[in-house]
Amino acid sequence: LSEQLEAAWKKLRGQDKLTASNIQEPLKVVRRALIDADVSVQVVREFIQGVETRAVGKEVISGVRPDQQFIKVVYDELVQVMGTEQVPLITAPQSPSIILMAGLQGTGKTTAAAKLALYLKKQDKKPLLVATDIYRPAAIDQLQTLGRQIGVPVFALGTDVNPVTIAQQGVAHAQSEGCDWVIVDTAGRLQIDQAMMGELAQIKTTIQPQEVLLVVDAMTGQEAANLTRTFHEQIGITGAILTKLDGDARGGAALSVRQISGQPIKFIGTGEKVEALQPFYPERMASRILGMGDVLTLVEKAQETVDLADAERLQEKILRAQFDFSDFVQQLRLLKNMGSLGGFMKLIPGMNQIKPEQIQQAEKQLKRAEAMINSMTTRERQQPDILASHPSRRRRIAKGSGHTEAEVTKLVQDFQQMRTMMQRMSMGGLPGMGDAPNL
Ligand code: GDP
Ligand code: MG
Repeated sequence: LSEQLEAAWKKLRGQDKLTASNIQEPLKVVRRALIDADVSVQVVREFIQGVETRAVGKEVISGVRPDQQFIKVVYDELVQVMGTEQVPLITAPQSPSIILMAGLQGTGKTTAAAKLALYLKKQDKKPLLVATDIYRPAAIDQLQTLGRQIGVPVFALGTDVNPVTIAQQGVAHAQSEGCDWVIVDTAGRLQIDQAMMGELAQIKTTIQPQEVLLVVDAMTGQEAANLTRTFHEQIGITGAILTKLDGDARGGAALSVRQISGQPIKFIGTGEKVEALQPFYPERMASRILGMGDVLTLVEKAQETVDLADAERLQEKILRAQFDFSDFVQQLRLLKNMGSLGGFMKLIPGMNQIKPEQIQQAEKQLKRAEAMINSMTTRERQQPDILASHPSRRRRIAKGSGHTEAEVTKLVQDFQQMRTMMQRMSMGGLPGMGDAPNL
C-alpha cells in the first residue's frame, strides 16, 4: 500500500497546488486502501468527498511537497472523522455509573466487560460485573472466572431469571455494596435478531445506563457498518469498543462505526488477556488505517526524502576522507529535496527560533556554492585540494560561475573546514562541544 501511495504521490511532485485533476490518482489509491482496511464502501465514498473538498485549491506550503501536503489532508480528515480526541467514559452524577455492553456473540463482550472492570479498578474505582447472558450456561462461568482473576465481584442469578431482572437487581446490589461502576454483560447472537434487540432495549430502559458500548470485532470487515447502523437505530449506542486489533485487522471498522453512529470509539481490545485494553486514540488509528506504523512514521515518511543508501555511502566516504565536491553537491540536493532549508530546519528541535532572514541568507549561500561547483571540472570536484594550490583554477571558476575569486577561495576553505569537521564527527562526537548541545 505504502508503495502504491508513494507511486501516486510521485506524480504530484513539482506542482505547487493540489487541483481536482492532480489528486485523482492519489485519491483512487486512498480509496482502495480504505476498502482494503475494511471501511464500508459508503463510508469511503463520503470520506473521499471530504478529502477532495479539503484538498483542492490548497496551496502547497513552502518547504512541503505536494504529495506530503496531500497525505496530510488525508490523515487530518481521518483523524477528524474519527473524533480528534480520546473520549473518556461518561460518569453518572450519582454513583453508580452504568455501562451496558452490546454486540454480537463472539465479538468479545464478556472479555471486554472484564477488561473494563480491571481498567476501572486500576483507577481506584470499585466496579461490579453483572452476568445477564442466561442462554449459554458457560457464559456466566466465564464472567465469574474472569472476575476472580481480576478480583472484581460478579453479580449473577443463574440461568432461570429474566435478564432484565438480573440487570435491575445487579444495579441495586451495586448501590448497596457501595460500588461506583456497574458493567452489565449481555447475551449476543450470531446474527442480529429481534428477540436479542428487544431484550437489550428493555434492559436499557430499565437501568438507564450512562454508556451503551457496542463491542465490534475489528475483523468483521465491511459488515461493521450495517451492524452499527442496526444497533444504533434500535438501541442507541453511546460509544464502541473495537476488539481483536492485535490481529491483522487494519481497523477500518473504527471509521465506519464512528461515521455511521456519530459516537466515539472509546477503547480498543488488543489481546485475549484482561490487561489488553487501551483507550482509543484517533491519530494512532488513522496511521494504522493508512497502513503506517504510527504517527511518527507517517510524519517522518512525509518529510523524509533523504535516500538512506546515499546517506550511508556518504558517511563511508567521509570516514575514508574521500568526501569531495560532488558529494557536497549531492548533499545540497538532498537538502533541497526536503523542501526549503527553512522547512527542513523547522523540523529540528530548537531550530525554529532562527530568523527568516538568516534562512534566506543560508539558502542564497547554498545556491552560490552550487553554481561555483558546477563550474568545476570533474578532477577539481574529486580533488578539492588542487583548488587550494592553483589560483588560476579558482580564477577560471569565478569567471565561469559569475562570482569573485575571493568567493571561490572562501568556498574551498569552507569545504576543507567542513570536511575536517565531518571526519571528526564521524570518528566520535564533536570535539569541544562538551555535553549534549543546549537546544
Ligand atoms: P462474547 O461472546 O461477545 O462475550 O465474546 P467473548 O468475550 O467470549 O470473546 C470471544 C473470543 O474472543 C474469546 O476467545 C476471547 O478470548 C477472544 N477475544 C476477545 N477480545 C479479544 C481481543 O481483543 N483480541 C483477541 N485476540 N481475542 C479476543
Ligand atoms: Mg459473552
